[in-house]
Amino acid sequence: MPTRKLAAISNQIEFCMHYHDTSFWVSDLTPDNNPAHRAELHSDLEVDVAIIGAGYTGLWSAYYLKQAKPELSIAIFEAQEVGFGASGRNGGWLMGSIEGQDELLEDLPLEQRRRALQLIYGLIDETQRVCLKEGIDCDLHHGGWLNIAARYPEQLPRLQQSLKHLRHLGHRPEDYQWLDAAQVQERLNIQNPYGGIFTPHTSKSIRWYFHATYRSNTACEIGGRSRKNS
Ligand SMILES: Cc1cc2nc3c(=O)[nH]c(=O)nc-3n(C[C@H](O)[C@H](O)[C@H](O)COP(=O)(O)OP(=O)(O)OC[C@H]3O[C@@H](n4cnc5c(N)ncnc54)[C@H](O)[C@@H]3O)c2cc1C
Repeated sequence: MPTRKLAAISNQIEFCMHYHDTSFWVSDLTPDNNPAHRAELHSDLEVDVAIIGAGYTGLWSAYYLKQAKPELSIAIFEAQEVGFGASGRNGGWLMGSIEGQDELLEDLPLEQRRRALQLIYGLIDETQRVCLKEGIDCDLHHGGWLNIAARYPEQLPRLQQSLKHLRHLGHRPEDYQWLDAAQVQERLNIQNPYGGIFTPHTSKSIRWYFHATYRSNTACEIGGRSRKNS
């Protein structure tokens, strides 16, 4: 085998071995709730729904499926560890937005677009609701998001233009607010800002990965199973 290929494989093995050191979210877990301690699957298993992959997509799907149909038996099959993919290594931002939403919604009439946006903004409230219901402590902080012009004046018209575009897409003033220089400084102590946009539809969870793991535990408690290395 060529040396470069061997080196790449060896790097990958080393990466997998050190996974628990490299992911901040994983290293933040206590032994009691560490997904590494989940059982591996060594025999056939018959279930109503088999979900492949214990990232956010798989874990949330199992959770809502179980809420909708408690009688279903659900298993989540994970090739590595719960949260091994991007779900275990992301920035921890919970956003009331979906990648590509503007393009997806642009053909709808304004009123329908606005209703769809309200549902999307609701992702944060819904997550808070589930955390409260299930007793999940993930340090969720609903603080919002600021996009500011503060380095050079040319940023200001660009930002104003982007706000105009947001309005055109159906975002209301309470969803994306314009802040003048003084209002920016009230929120952020920086020198000479020109202006900015604030949206309340973003929050930060310091222990976001912990959250995901908990969700998987919840699915387990109510009947689903997460099988690592399966
Ligand atoms: C650096 C970075 C920062 C990010 N920051 C943010 C952020 O701040 N906020 C935000 O909302 N999003 C963020 N994202 C995006 C977000 O993390 C992903 O959109 C999300 O985690 C995707 O979840 P997923 O469950 O679809 O995929 P994954 O998390 O990748 O999960 C897929 C799982 O499936 C498993 N799998 C794959 N194939 C098989 C198989 N054949 N059998 C069994 N299991 C299999 C994998 O091991 C993996 O665990 C970020 C992403 C990255 C990379």
